[in-house]
Amino acid sequence: MLSIRRLYKIGNGPSSSHTMGPSNATKYIISHYADATYFEVTLFGSLALTGKGHLTDVIISKIFGDRKHKIIFDYSTIKEHPNTMVYKIYRNDILIDEVTIVSIGGGLISIEGVKEEDEIEVYPHKNFNEIKSYCLENNISLIDYIDRFERDGIRDYIEEIYKVMIDSIERGLKKEGVLPGKLRVSRKAKEIYSRVIPEERSSRREKRLISAFAFASAEENASGGEVVTAPTCGSCGIIPSLVKYYEEQGYSHKEIIDAMMVAGLIGLIVSQNASISGAECGCQAEIGTASSMGAAFVSYLKGKNINAIERAAEIAMEHCLGLTCDPVDGYVQIPCIERNAIGALRAIEASTLTEFIGDTISKISFDVVVDTMYETGKDLNKVYRETSIGGLAKKYIGDKR
Ligand code: SF4
Repeated sequence: MLSIRRLYKIGNGPSSSHTMGPSNATKYIISHYADATYFEVTLFGSLALTGKGHLTDVIISKIFGDRKHKIIFDYSTIKEHPNTMVYKIYRNDILIDEVTIVSIGGGLISIEGVKEEDEIEVYPHKNFNEIKSYCLENNISLIDYIDRFERDGIRDYIEEIYKVMIDSIERGLKKEGVLPGKLRVSRKAKEIYSRVIPEERSSRREKRLISAFAFASAEENASGGEVVTAPTCGSCGIIPSLVKYYEEQGYSHKEIIDAMMVAGLIGLIVSQNASISGAECGCQAEIGTASSMGAAFVSYLKGKNINAIERAAEIAMEHCLGLTCDPVDGYVQIPCIERNAIGALRAIEASTLTEFIGDTISKISFDVVVDTMYETGKDLNKVYRETSIGGLAKKYIGDKR
C-alpha cells in the first residue's frame, strides 16, 4: 500500500474530487505543457452534473489564470469512471496532445499512462487482515507497524495536517452568516459552540462540542476554506472534531498524532481496496470511511487492542452501508455538513459498542465490510452517486414546505 501522505491532503474545499482533483489535474497539465497556447477541458459524469455547485469550473479557471481555455460540461457521454476529465492541449491552433485524467477521490488524480512519485508502495501488506497477522506475529502495535514502514518525515507531515485541521475548526467557530451558494444555508458551528455550558450532563456536552467542531470544519470546507481530506473534503469534519475534542480531554499531543496515523491507515486500506469517492460509491465511501477512521482513532486513544480497533472500524462502516450521495444543488452543504457531526458521534458509539460486546474477533472483518461497501456502491443506482439528480437533491423544495 501507499503512504498515509496519499490520504491526508491539504487543500481548499468544497470537494476533494470536484475541486481539489480538477485543481491538481489542471496544475499537472500546465506544468507539462508550458508552451501551449490554448486548453480545452471536458468534464464528464458527476463532474459535469454537479460541477457548477461544486465550483469545478471556477477552480479550473482560477488555476489556468490568464491562459486561454474553455470548459465544456458533457452531461450525456458515459465514461468508465464518473469523474473523468479530458484535456485537449493546443499550440498555435494545432492539437498537440489529449490527456485523460480521473479524479479518484480525496483530491487524488489518476493520469492515463502516468505513474506519480507518491504512488510508491511503502507497506508490504494490502489489507487489514494481512497487517493484523503481521502485527500479531511480530508482537507489535498498529503504530509500531506504521513507524516501521512509513516514509521518512511522516510525523512532520502529520503535524502539518494536525495544524490545518485545528485551524479549520478555529476559523469555523468564529464565523456567522450564510454559506456561499443559492441554498443560503446558515452557518451553525458558532451557535452550537456558544451553547456549551460546563454544568451540562457530560455526555450531552461531549456531543455538543464534537458537533460544533465537526460543523466548523465542514462549514469551512463548504465555503472554500483550507481543510484536510480525511479522507475527502466532504467528510473533512469528522477526524478534526475528534482530534480537538480528545486533545481537550487531556490526551497528549503524541497520543493524538499516533491516533491520527492509525486512522490514516484505516482510510488508506479503504482507498486502496475500494473507494473513497462519493461519485463512485456514494456517501458510504466518504462519511462511512471517515467514521471508520474515527472509530479507530478513538479506540486507539483508549488503548484498545488490535481486534477491538478493527471491530470499531468495521461497526462504523457496516452501519453506513448503502448511504447515498445526493448533495442538494451540488453544494457540499445539505446533507453533508450535518453528516459530519453524525459521523463523528457514530465513531465514538462504534468504539463504545466494542466495550459492550467484547473485543473477540467479529464474524465480519473490516476487510469484508470494505469489500461489501465497494460492491454496494457499484450497485447503487447512479442517481445516488453524486449526481444531484436523485434523493434529497431531487426532493428538495426549498423553503416552500
Ligand atoms: S453526500 Fe456525502 S459523499 Fe456526497 S458530497 Fe456530501 S459528504 Fe460527500
